[in-house]
Amino acid sequence: MIRSTSIACLAFSASVASAQQPTWQHPPKLVVGIVVDQMRTDYIYRYWDNFGEGGFKRLIGEGSFLRDAQQHAHCDRSRHASIYTGTTPSHHGIVANDRYDRATRKTIYCTQDMSQQAVGTLPDNAHRSPVQLLSTTLADELERRTERRSKTIGVALKDRSSILPIGRTGDAAYWMYGSEGNCITSTWYMKSLPQWVIDFNNKKLAEQYLAQTWSLTLPVERYHQVLPDNNPYEIPLYRGIPATLPINLDSLRKAGAGLDLLSYTPWGNTITTDMALAALEGEQMGKDAITDLLAISYSSTDILGHRVGPRAVEVEDMYIRLDRDLKRLLDELDRSVGAGAYTVFLTADHGAVDVPQYLKDMKGSAGYVDVQDVVDRVQREFPAQVSGGHLWVDTVMDGQVFLRSGADAAERFAERLGEQPEIASAASASALNAIQDEHLAPLLRNGYMPQRSGDILFVMRPGYFELDEWSNGHGTTHGSPWNYDTHVPILFFGAGVQHGEVLRRTHITDIVPTISAIVGLSLTDACTGRTVHEVVK
Ligand SMILES: [Zn+2]
Repeated sequence: MIRSTSIACLAFSASVASAQQPTWQHPPKLVVGIVVDQMRTDYIYRYWDNFGEGGFKRLIGEGSFLRDAQQHAHCDRSRHASIYTGTTPSHHGIVANDRYDRATRKTIYCTQDMSQQAVGTLPDNAHRSPVQLLSTTLADELERRTERRSKTIGVALKDRSSILPIGRTGDAAYWMYGSEGNCITSTWYMKSLPQWVIDFNNKKLAEQYLAQTWSLTLPVERYHQVLPDNNPYEIPLYRGIPATLPINLDSLRKAGAGLDLLSYTPWGNTITTDMALAALEGEQMGKDAITDLLAISYSSTDILGHRVGPRAVEVEDMYIRLDRDLKRLLDELDRSVGAGAYTVFLTADHGAVDVPQYLKDMKGSAGYVDVQDVVDRVQREFPAQVSGGHLWVDTVMDGQVFLRSGADAAERFAERLGEQPEIASAASASALNAIQDEHLAPLLRNGYMPQRSGDILFVMRPGYFELDEWSNGHGTTHGSPWNYDTHVPILFFGAGVQHGEVLRRTHITDIVPTISAIVGLSLTDACTGRTVHEVVK
C-alpha cells in the first residue's frame, strides 16, 4: 500500500483513442468482492419482489447473473479460500474450517497461527493469520502486479472470511471481536490499528444497533416464507425466548446476550457495510489508476441461517435489509469511486439444507445421521484388526475418517462404510481416482489434500446431516455436495462487465480468472477455474 503518484507501468497513453485501447488498459479503480455467507441462489428468485431497485435488482439488471454456479469441493466449509484463490482445497489447502493434525491429535482452525497476536483487543484474544493458505489470492496477485501499491482490505464479522480472501500479502484483514463490538486485526498485518479503525470503534456502533427492537420491515403478508414465524424447526436467537419477531434486542442484550447478539441480526450486515465504507474512505480506495480490492463478507446470513433455516421469515427479513445495505454500498461507491469505475462480484460460499425435520415432516427423504454410530458399526466388523485394545478409527470429522495405524486397510473399511444405508458414497484416499459417480467424484477429489485430509472421505445421502444435540430437529447446516448446499449465485457488475445471464454450469473458482481478465492480472498460482467469457466486455 506504499503509494507513488506516478505509476508509469499502469498508466495508459492518453494520445491513443480509448476505443482502440485494450480493456485492460482501463482497469477498474476498485474491485469489490462480496460474499454472502449461506446464500442460496433461490433466495434471489423467492425474495425478488421484496427487493428495492438499488441493491440485488441493480446488480442483476445492469450486470451478469450466473444462474447455474456451483461450489465443488467435499466438506470445504471455508469457501472464501476457494473463491479468492480460484481453486479447490486440494490445491489451496483449506480443507475445512478445522482440520485434524495426526501428529498432535488436535484440530487446527483454518486461520490459527500461534505466532501471531490480536491487534485492537487483548493480544491473546486471537492468534490468526493466512499462513495455512497455500495459493495466492486475487489480493496477492494485485499486490504482485503493482509492487504492493494496491490497497487490498478485507472486512467481515468472522476472521476467516476476512483473512482468507486477502491472502498472505494483502494489506489488512479486519474482523469483529464480537463480545467487545470492535473491529480488530492481527500482528500479521500491523502493530497497531490505523486511525480510521480507531475512530470507527469509538463510534460504538454495535451498542447503537442493539438498542432497538427487530421487527418485520414489511407487512407480514408480503413475506414468502412457507412456514409461520412461530414453527418448531427454529432455534431461538437466545435461550428462553421464542424464535419469532419482534425481538427486543436491547433488553436481550442487557439480559446477558451481550454484544455478540449483533451477529444474529440484520445489523451484523449493516455494521459490516459500515466497516467497508470506513475502509473505503479511511484508505482512500479506488482513487487512482492502481486497482484496489475491497473484500466484504456478510456473515450474519449464515449465523442466523444456521438457527432458523432457509424457510424462516427472519431470514427473508434479513435479506430485505441486506438489499438496502447493498444499495447504500453501491451508492457510496458511485459517489466516491465513480459509477462505471469499479467492478463488483457477489457470490456465496455455500447454501444450506432445509431443516431435515421439516423435510421429513413433508414426507421427504431426509433426517439426521449419528455418524459415530455408523462408523462404529463398520468398525465392529473388523475385530481381528483391533490391536492392543485400540480401535481402528482415530477420529471422524467433516465427512472424513482418520484411521490409526491400520490405514492400509482403508479401502476395505471405506467399501463397507459406503454400503451403510445412511451413506451415499465413501472412498479411501487411494481409491479417489476410481470413483465412478460422475457428480461426487470431482467433489471428493477437489476436497482432498493428502497431508491435511482423512484416510476415507464419505458423503451422506441428500437431505441428511450429522446428528448432534444442538441440531436434532431444529436449525440447519451445510458442507454436503448436494445442490441445496452447492448451488450459489454469482453476480458481476460494473467496469468491464457485460449485461446478461449465463445459464451454463459455472463454478465459484471461475470468479478469479474472470476478474483477472477484466483487470489484466496474471492468474492466481493454483487457479483451476475458467474465465466466464460471456461476462467480460
Ligand atoms: Zn455456516
